[in-house]
Amino acid sequence: MASASFNRVLLKLSGEALMGDLDYGIDPAQIERIANQVGEVRGRDVEVAIVVGAGNIYRGLEGAAEGMDRATADYMGMLATVLNALTLQDALEKVGVDTRVLSAMAVTEVAEPYIRRRAIRHLQKGRSVIFAAGTGNPFFTTDTAAALRALEIHAEAILMAKNGVEGVYSADPSIDPDAEFLPEISHRQAIERGLRVMDSTALSLCMDNDLPIYVFNMADERNIDRIVSGERVGTLVSSKPATEPASGVRT
Ligand code: UDP
Repeated sequence: MASASFNRVLLKLSGEALMGDLDYGIDPAQIERIANQVGEVRGRDVEVAIVVGAGNIYRGLEGAAEGMDRATADYMGMLATVLNALTLQDALEKVGVDTRVLSAMAVTEVAEPYIRRRAIRHLQKGRSVIFAAGTGNPFFTTDTAAALRALEIHAEAILMAKNGVEGVYSADPSIDPDAEFLPEISHRQAIERGLRVMDSTALSLCMDNDLPIYVFNMADERNIDRIVSGERVGTLVSSKPATEPASGVRT
C-alpha cells in the first residue's frame, strides 16, 4: 500500500452526503459506507476530522423563508448537525474508529464542548473527531465551519464530499448539459466565477490561508482513499490558477 500523502485531513460531509438516495434524513447504508471509508483512511494512519452539515434535516434559510427569525432557524440548523454527528459517531465506532464529537454549542450530555487543543489531542491519540454545530454562530454554514476548523487544527486539506457529481463544473451539470468538468481551479477563480465549491465566506477563508480543497464524488467508495494516497481525483481547488483556463475563466 502506497504511503499516505497527508497526515491530517478534514472531511466535510454535507447533510446530503448522509441522505444517499433518500429525500430526507439519514440513510443507514450510506452512513455505513462512509464509516468504512473513514476506517480505511484511519487504517493508513491519517488523522481524520469531520465536519457534518444538516441539509438532510434542516436548513436555516428554509425556516427564514417561511417567516422564522433567521438566527433562530440557524440555531435549529446547528442543532440538526448534532443529530448527524451522533449518527456518524455511532457508525464509526461500529467499524472500530474511536470517535469524539466536539460541539460548538453546549450539548454536554452527548458531546464535548469544542476546545481546539482538545481536538488536536484526540487526533494525536488516534481518535477521529466530528465537529458538530458548525461555527456556533448563525448566518454561517458548515462549509465555513469546515474551513475554520481545518485551519485551527492545521489540517493539510479539506476533502469536500459531493453527492453524485465528480467535482467542480463550469456550470450546474444537472441544469446545463454543456457544463464542463474542471480538474483544477484556484480559489480566486472559483469565487469570481461563482462556482459552487462551497459558499464564498468559506472559500475566501481557504484562499486567504492557502488551504487546498479536494472536491470529489462520495458515490465512489474508493475516492477518499485515493485522494489520501495522492491520486488525482475530482477537482483540486488551490492557490494555483488552472494552467489552461477553461473558456471564460479569468486568471
Ligand atoms: N448553521 C449555522 N451556522 C454554522 C453552521 C450551520 O447557522 O456555523 C446552520 C444554518 O442554518 C445551516 C444549517 O445549520 O443552514 C445546516 O448547515 P449547512 O446548510 O451548512 O449544511 P449542509 O449544506 O452542509 O448539509
